[in-house]
Amino acid sequence: MPPLPKRKTSHARQGERRSHLEAKTSAMVPCPQCHEMRLPHRACPSCGYYRGKKVVETTAESK
Ligand SMILES: [Zn+2]
Repeated sequence: MPPLPKRKTSHARQGERRSHLEAKTSAMVPCPQCHEMRLPHRACPSCGYYRGKKVVETTAESK
């Protein structure tokens, strides 16, 4: 006999197991330059600005 589980995991058991897997929303702050939400203490991914200066070149600029 191959080592296989005897019973299929029920949907209820599957849900119980996944009860700890909820993705938590990380803290986001609005960018003062373009008002997109971004991570704090990081350059803005949409406009590339950090502390009022352009620090990263962004490919698609939405202005
Ligand atoms: Zn921005």
